[in-house]
Amino acid sequence: MGLRCLYCRKDKPSSQLTIDPRLRSVYRGEICVTCYPDVLKQETVYCVECHAAYIRNRGWPLDMCPSCRINDRPMQAKVVESALIRKLDNSAPKSLTVDEWIATLKYFGGSCAYCQVRSYECLEHFIPIKLGGGTSASNVVPSCCTCNKLKESVHPTLVTRIPQEDIERVRVYLQQL
Ligand SMILES: [Zn+2]
Ligand SMILES: [Zn+2]
Ligand SMILES: [Zn+2]
Repeated sequence: MGLRCLYCRKDKPSSQLTIDPRLRSVYRGEICVTCYPDVLKQETVYCVECHAAYIRNRGWPLDMCPSCRINDRPMQAKVVESALIRKLDNSAPKSLTVDEWIATLKYFGGSCAYCQVRSYECLEHFIPIKLGGGTSASNVVPSCCTCNKLKESVHPTLVTRIPQEDIERVRVYLQQL
C-alpha cells in the first residue's frame, strides 16, 4: 500500500516520500520527492526586518525570521508577561525577566530546545506548572508546538515521546543557570 503525498495528493511508494521537519507547521506528513522542491520554494519567505530567507512558520503572526524574532524585545516581553500571568503553585518562583528569556532564546538559536530543528513557537515549562514548576529562568525553554504536545504534562523523566537524551540536554542547560 502506498502513502499519499500531502501536496499533490497522489499515492506514492514510501521510497518516494520525504518528511522535512522544518515544514511541520504546514505539512504534518509526507511530501513526494517530486513536489518537495516546489513546496520548499513556496514555504520560503523573507523576513520583514532583515530580508533573510527562512522557512515560514504558520504559528507566527509576523513574517519575521527566528533571529529577528529573538531580538524583538516588545514581542518577547509579551511572551514573558503572558507566562507570568499564569497561576502557579504558591511556592513556585515567578521571577522570569525579559533579559533572561531572550538569553535562553539566543542560547537555543531561536529553535526548539528539544528537537533543535523546528523554530520555537512557545514558552515551555520544563517541570510542568501542574507539578509545581515555576516561571523562572531555570524552568523555561523555547519549544515548538509539536514537542510541546509530545512532552505532555508529565515529569521530564517520564516523557517517552521525546528522546530522553534531548530532555537530559535541556535539563543540564537549565541546571547551570
Ligand atoms: Zn507530490
Ligand atoms: Zn530577520
Ligand atoms: Zn521541537
